[in-house]
Amino acid sequence: MYIPEITCSNTLCNQKFTPKDARQNYCNRKCQQDWNNHKAKRKRDTLKPVTTALQRNRGILRKIQGSLGESTVSAEYLRGAGFNFKVQTHNRMEEEQLYHCVYDYGIQKVGNEKYKIKNYGK
Ligand SMILES: [Zn+2]
Repeated sequence: MYIPEITCSNTLCNQKFTPKDARQNYCNRKCQQDWNNHKAKRKRDTLKPVTTALQRNRGILRKIQGSLGESTVSAEYLRGAGFNFKVQTHNRMEEEQLYHCVYDYGIQKVGNEKYKIKNYGK
């Protein structure tokens, strides 16, 4: 049976080869692993700035919060600590109030330039 050559799915390789079966998309196992590692690295590199900012925000909230369940701080204090208001993981409604969350912490704007911080991990 004639099996036509195909191009390796690793675009960094792009070699033509004759597959041993219909499911083979890479010229060899190492080429498949290299491609999967390349994709994983690209994904990590793309997410890294956001992940770093989220982790920094969480660290700031954790430090402010300490062992308290709830506290209030000024926006200036958060900015001074390096808090990035542009990143969050999700929103949460609680008693009809919107909280912008960073993992297990939530902040809610209360009044002028003040934020209430809650730790949901407690
Ligand atoms: Zn290849």
